[in-house]
Amino acid sequence: MLLGCMADDFTGATDLANNLVRGGMRVVQTVGVPGALLKEDMDAVVVALKSRTIPAAEAVSQSLAALKWLQQHGCRQIYFKYCSTFDSTPAGNIGPVTEALMHALGCDFTIACPAFPEAGRTVFKGHLFVGDVPLNESGMRHHPLTPMTDANLVRVLQAQMKAKVGLIGYEDVARGPDAIRARIAALKSTGVKVAIVDVLSNDDLMRLGLALNDMSLVTAGSGVAVGLPQNFVATGALHAGTSATTLPHADGYRAVVSGSCSVATNAQVAYFIASGGAAFAIDAAKLAAGEPEVERALAWANPLLEQGKGPVLLYSTAAPAAVQKIQSQIGASVAGQLIEQALATAACGLVHAGVDQLVVAGGETSGAVVQALGIAALRIGPQIDPGVPWTMSVGDKRIALALKSGNFGGEDFFVKAFRVLQ
Ligand code: ADP
Repeated sequence: MLLGCMADDFTGATDLANNLVRGGMRVVQTVGVPGALLKEDMDAVVVALKSRTIPAAEAVSQSLAALKWLQQHGCRQIYFKYCSTFDSTPAGNIGPVTEALMHALGCDFTIACPAFPEAGRTVFKGHLFVGDVPLNESGMRHHPLTPMTDANLVRVLQAQMKAKVGLIGYEDVARGPDAIRARIAALKSTGVKVAIVDVLSNDDLMRLGLALNDMSLVTAGSGVAVGLPQNFVATGALHAGTSATTLPHADGYRAVVSGSCSVATNAQVAYFIASGGAAFAIDAAKLAAGEPEVERALAWANPLLEQGKGPVLLYSTAAPAAVQKIQSQIGASVAGQLIEQALATAACGLVHAGVDQLVVAGGETSGAVVQALGIAALRIGPQIDPGVPWTMSVGDKRIALALKSGNFGGEDFFVKAFRVLQ
């Protein structure tokens, strides 16, 4: 195993894994820290934690457990992945986790860089930009859990850690790996232990990647991962042109389960139905009244699947007014949990009936489905739309899963997904 990664949330882990696969690495993503070692052929593993907004001490202990597990696999380099908008509070968790990992690895210098130019995240003079505006002018300033009110990442990170934070500025990044290494040496001589890095383009990521060749710990968003596979190719540890996206064949029934109510998912459900797809709406009010909606949905779906009329779509996806109505009746959190559990039960029923290609729409919904199916790890396959790849569960029962968070994917996502798998 070449690269061992941990990510502070689930969809962020998939995003990172997707970038590594695009760089030719065979990648498995795990749900939390697995109890045992994985026996899959792979070049990188991404442990998905849920540590972004929990108390810092807990985030540190989860991250150290992940590190230990990654080290047991013999990983040569460790990658701590956080959000490309540097989501964190003044208490952490990016700073405390970075310091704990450095200490555990005996690492005297690392970088911190959330840049991902393809997704509009760039860093200049240590300031993070989201599209055309500084971080503190983006929607992130109103985030309910991690409002970001300062775009100066040197200042943001310094507030979270004891070690001295510095900057590798654009003038060095633009000149290439030797200049970056020289800047690192200069920073180290002044006692700096962590440096924010300016990055404006994919070319910058490739230059930065070369300079990170022998850094035992990298902390970053998913973008920096674009520049790392080339180092493993150069040493012969990774073969260029390896087909990293090949998944084992799935030839069972096909289904979509959708619990996201985002604008994008509403459009995807409408598109699927308009193009003749078979769809069953799970009614939140009936569920709340204790009616057997899941049994009804499965009784509707099973004959269609057997007659080869799939993929079938089971959805609770609804427009904002309908969502607000049920939320005002039973509360937002109760409604959310009730529907997530219903959709997870429905997904298990579909798999039991022979579905082995399943698209799930919604971040929380995906979490509930993966948990209900008892899936501990996923091999990452080909990308359907930016940030959303097909995956295949690791273990005895192989299910192809595409886990789409809210606003991801084009209008035709539910149709396109199955074409990509063919
Ligand atoms: P997204 O990725 O779009 O945020 P999630 O699955 O993370 O999607 O969150 C959607 C939430 O909305 C879930 O808790 C889900 O159970 C809930 N939900 C789904 N359908 C409805 C509905 N019709 N009414 C109210 N809540 C719903």
